[in-house]
Amino acid sequence: MSENQNVRVRFAPSPTGKLHVGGARTAIYNWAFARATGGTFILRIDDTDPTRSTDENTQIILRAMRWLGLDWDEGPEVGGDYGPYWQTECLPIYREAAERLVAEGKAYYCFCTPEKLEADRKAAQERKDTFQGYQRTCRNIDPAEAQARVDAGEPYTIRIKVPDGRGDVIVHDAVHGDVTFNAKELDDFIIFRSDGTPTYNFATVVDDARMGITHIIRGDDHLSNTPRQIMVYEALGAPTPVFAHISMILGTDGKKLSKRHGATSVEEYRDAGYLSDAFVNYLSLLGWAPDGESTVISRERLASEFSLDHVSKNPAIMDPKKLDFINGEYLHAMDDQTFADEVLIPQLHAAGFEPAGECLHDAAWYDLLAAALKPRTTLGPQVVDQAAFLYEEDAELEYDEKSVKKWLAKTGAREALDAATEALAAVEDWTPEAIEAALDPLPEKLGMGKGKVFQPIRVAVVGSAASPGIGETLALAGKDHVLARIERAKELAL
Ligand code: GLU
Repeated sequence: MSENQNVRVRFAPSPTGKLHVGGARTAIYNWAFARATGGTFILRIDDTDPTRSTDENTQIILRAMRWLGLDWDEGPEVGGDYGPYWQTECLPIYREAAERLVAEGKAYYCFCTPEKLEADRKAAQERKDTFQGYQRTCRNIDPAEAQARVDAGEPYTIRIKVPDGRGDVIVHDAVHGDVTFNAKELDDFIIFRSDGTPTYNFATVVDDARMGITHIIRGDDHLSNTPRQIMVYEALGAPTPVFAHISMILGTDGKKLSKRHGATSVEEYRDAGYLSDAFVNYLSLLGWAPDGESTVISRERLASEFSLDHVSKNPAIMDPKKLDFINGEYLHAMDDQTFADEVLIPQLHAAGFEPAGECLHDAAWYDLLAAALKPRTTLGPQVVDQAAFLYEEDAELEYDEKSVKKWLAKTGAREALDAATEALAAVEDWTPEAIEAALDPLPEKLGMGKGKVFQPIRVAVVGSAASPGIGETLALAGKDHVLARIERAKELAL
């Protein structure tokens, strides 16, 4: 599409709460669409609901956007030629737009009280009228009279005038196809409330029109608002953008994603240790697939290949297991040093194993630990439990009861530990390879299976039977500690 050069999309969160996964995916799609088309990605803060919008939430949303790596070309902090990017700063713009529509006869003042509206609705119900919306009572008040009533201070709302004979309003949705709405049912809906604030359907269109938004990508909970918004575009004389309503995100039980399903906000995922790249990768595939196969899609690929043609209209299922799998893929693709620097060491500090700003070991030790733990980790904080044995005092290491029963309290265990002491004491160059070379001959020498020899050693040093390779494990623990722990474990061995 050559017109892609001019694509302008926006993500317009309301700061009434944190950024949730659904919003995050909407933001990702807008960002990716802008990047893939060479367009502009705009962030706008829809803070017109004063009772529920807070600065704190705005800051949380901005932080979440930055953590997701979704850089915006226009909006808070970066500015742009189409400001303001905060709806509360646009109130005069909305008022001016609404009054212009009134002056042009495309909107009108309505003086109906809530009581009158309720009585009209009840009457329509009793008449069994299929249309129970606004009865257009004020639509034909003479404009001069209406103005006089406004000037006299009578409370009013402003309603859009759905043109007579408008017929069906068809939303040409890039995801859902054509969706038809009957214009009559749209009502002459309110665009300005009696308290002087614009309604969502009006403010959003005024902003989208003045910002030159070409494509509106948002959740399909807004699909039913769209015919009304089209009415506003038409009244304003602004071109209607392309709409793409993306499906809801459901939990694995098929219900709308909520707290019951676990974490829902972006920062909960960040704090749980997910990597931004993996999280963006996972969310981007909830409803979009470049080829139906790939599960790992780099940010670069997303930013170059995203297209609305491959967005599904079916609800997407958020499956934490798949997210963990993808996070693991990203961790496993890191080299050992990166894993040590970006995952392991920060986690060791966070767990309090090492004092802030200090490293108790040399770089080679962390690299070795990274190499040992990386293949066994799908989420950063998992390294904490796995590395804990390396930070225990030898005399205080706790033994897992089951492992003791299974491997230490068994005939032959004592013999295996004695042989290990002898073999290990002779190792000079304390490396995984040298340790393995020293231990390798023992099963044959003792006439025992490998498990019967190596598992008691592992339990003695780690406290449980689960650990990386025996050579790495012992190398990391250090020779003196290994020998001391084996001595201690002999008391439990038969
Ligand atoms: N502020 C609205 C919301 O968060 C924006 C909806 C839209 O994209 O039009 O739901």
